[in-house]
Amino acid sequence: MSDEQSARKNAVTMEKLVNLCKRRGLVFPTSDIYGGLGSTYDYGPLGIELKRNVKEAWWREMVQFRTDVLGLDSAIFQHPRTWEASGHLQNFSDPMVDCKKCKQRYRADKIQGDRCPDPNCNGELTPARQFNLMFKTFMGPVEDTASVVYLRPETAQGIFANFQNIVDTQRVKLPFGVAQIGKSFRNEITTENFIFRTREFEQMEMEFFIKPDTAEEEKWYRYWVDFRFNWHTKYGLQADHLRRREHGTEELSHYSSGTTDIEFLYPFGWGELEGVAKRGSFDLDQHAKASGKDLTYFDEDAKARYRPWVIEPALGVDRSMLAFMLDAYDEDVVENEERIVMRFNPRLAPIKVAIYPLLRKGGQPEKAHAVREMLSKHFTTAYDQAGSIGRRYRRQDEVGTPFGVTIDHQTMEDDTVTLRDRDTTGQVRHPIAALVDVLNGKVGWAA
Ligand code: ATP
Repeated sequence: MSDEQSARKNAVTMEKLVNLCKRRGLVFPTSDIYGGLGSTYDYGPLGIELKRNVKEAWWREMVQFRTDVLGLDSAIFQHPRTWEASGHLQNFSDPMVDCKKCKQRYRADKIQGDRCPDPNCNGELTPARQFNLMFKTFMGPVEDTASVVYLRPETAQGIFANFQNIVDTQRVKLPFGVAQIGKSFRNEITTENFIFRTREFEQMEMEFFIKPDTAEEEKWYRYWVDFRFNWHTKYGLQADHLRRREHGTEELSHYSSGTTDIEFLYPFGWGELEGVAKRGSFDLDQHAKASGKDLTYFDEDAKARYRPWVIEPALGVDRSMLAFMLDAYDEDVVENEERIVMRFNPRLAPIKVAIYPLLRKGGQPEKAHAVREMLSKHFTTAYDQAGSIGRRYRRQDEVGTPFGVTIDHQTMEDDTVTLRDRDTTGQVRHPIAALVDVLNGKVGWAA
């Protein structure tokens, strides 16, 4: 075990997590029945709930709670000139090498030395060639060069292309941000580590427009790095599994004059979770040049017109889910029995409350169904009457359900139920009529 693995606080490995995800319907390999596609994944019934919650947590903190950030949902297809202007056609590529012996392909910047990294091969590598990561397709019924379009490799350009629309319609004043969540596509040379790097993924990006001023830029850059770092810990990542890493100049993207990666300690080592970049006025300048549109902002106070600079926090939804699942994973012993328990922040947990009739008779199942129906208006729920009550608790612990409501003989007499806590396994009795309020105080977004 490497130092990095041993530095993690829980017993998780990628293998354990991948198995749990498949077994419990969080994540399935895409096209499983055809042997998978290798680089894409589907989210199952529980995975989609986790994903919705991760996006909700981001949207609430980045848009809803603030007065200076607005939302947007732009199209995946953009005018092809977008990618010319943004520099993606020219620069959005990775260096690729091929092994002459085993024919395996690698990203040159991710391997060391000049031989094939497979120890059983050690073959000679070709010189590095640049490989553009954008997926190309055709729009309309004619497949010719005039109809070529690209699947967006980032959501950001849809925000820049709408800058003028936002300024003209929203009465915004600098500094302000525009946030967007949506799919992005990159024809990555190699995909790896489950949902860490895939060719189809989702991003949560925000472009924060500021005055073109170095001190202002530094202030907001630091602000967003800290804000984003704290978001990850607020929703469940351990602070000692996170670190900030500033890019060296040789590593910067073509549009950036400074980038900090928020890195996470995955079981396979430290890797990027989120990037916070200074994009300057690069994108607005480029689109203004290419489109002939002005794309400036009129500063009422300074009575000046200029193109704002930009700070961008960009996070992958899938990578964020991976980190949350890795840090939620735990194994412990309850009543002499080992259990896997996903200690999700309750707001992220796919199911908030499970309902169990203790017995399958005496009116208990009917009562449990009625309670579930009532709770389902407020929370995601599960109903389970199969097997011993201990087994049922364990099933929900494994997918991180923070609370369980048990209907027993006393319920049939006085309309009270027990509420079991996933983490402490303690149980407290509550009247059914109080359940919504009690649970809202524990798992609700405003709690
Ligand atoms: P890397 O260096 O890992 O290729 P990047 O620096 O190109 O990533 P950005 O362009 O900064 O990534 O994208 C912002 C965020 O989008 C990343 O921090 C990551 O969370 C997510 N992301 C990027 N590429 C992928 C991918 N292929 N699969 C899943 N998530 C991705």
